[in-house]
Amino acid sequence: STKASAPKRAFVLAVTNLKGGVAKTTTACNVGWGLTDSGLSCLIVDLDMQANATSDLGFDISQIQESGLSMAAVLRGQHDMDDILLQYSDTNLWVAPSAKALTDVERQLSTEIGGEKRLFQKVSSVSGRFDVVIFDCGPNLNLLTINALSMADFLIIPVQTEYLAAHGTLSLLDTVSQVRDNYNPGLTILPILPTMFSERNSQEQATLGELRQLVSDIVPIFDPVPRATVFSKASASGHPALRASGRSKAVGTYRNYVKMILSKMKAARTSSKQAD
Ligand code: ADP
Ligand code: MG
Repeated sequence: STKASAPKRAFVLAVTNLKGGVAKTTTACNVGWGLTDSGLSCLIVDLDMQANATSDLGFDISQIQESGLSMAAVLRGQHDMDDILLQYSDTNLWVAPSAKALTDVERQLSTEIGGEKRLFQKVSSVSGRFDVVIFDCGPNLNLLTINALSMADFLIIPVQTEYLAAHGTLSLLDTVSQVRDNYNPGLTILPILPTMFSERNSQEQATLGELRQLVSDIVPIFDPVPRATVFSKASASGHPALRASGRSKAVGTYRNYVKMILSKMKAARTSSKQAD
């Protein structure tokens, strides 16, 4: 049939939270590595001007800054995606790097007619070559974040188990539901991933309880990722913790999270075949 020869369509994941430092990038890189390790090809699109996903995967951001080969140049129309993609350590994990200039580009795009389509057009030009595309969003609800949410099949929300996090999450979910209503009715929110959890800290336990109470009738809460030094060590070494410290207990939660994503993808594929 014609469907069999149709180009494959990548599953699109977006990692979002409007706060910085909650483990978005750590989650994007470890999920990306976990999916790659299970045999899929993945592209991480770095949408944060701080370019942490780019540097966490071992790339030199000052060199990228100098060469100008980043998402900023692609979105300006100066380069194609193919010119900027970087391969992580001879694997099937790739990154579209970011640079500081992304902030200016984002501002410019939001004033241009058709600017809201640019990210979609650019990423679509290469996404057929990957099984999965992961957007690592910056800590704000800018045009690029909304674009990523509009393209995503699945949304990953990491939440740091700190004071008031539950209320912030509720308001983020409200925003996501507006994006869903307006742009992307097919967006599925994956179980929320509590991060940097200190089991013995009663405040953090209370936050986790509050999160479950406020949010779990909208979306389930996954097992918390414990606070552990393997993650900052991993980012300094330029390799995801899941690869560098594969057997540590802390990364076990990420491994389970990846398994959950694989099963959701499989289920989505089966139900779309049935719909055909
Ligand atoms: P974001 O992308 O949301 O700004 P990052 O993923 O860059 O957050 O994480 C912020 C910092 O926290 C990084 O130094 C990272 O290594 C560290 N980190 C992430 N997850 C954990 C964890 N479970 N335990 C301890 N540190 C963590
Ligand atoms: Mg980040």
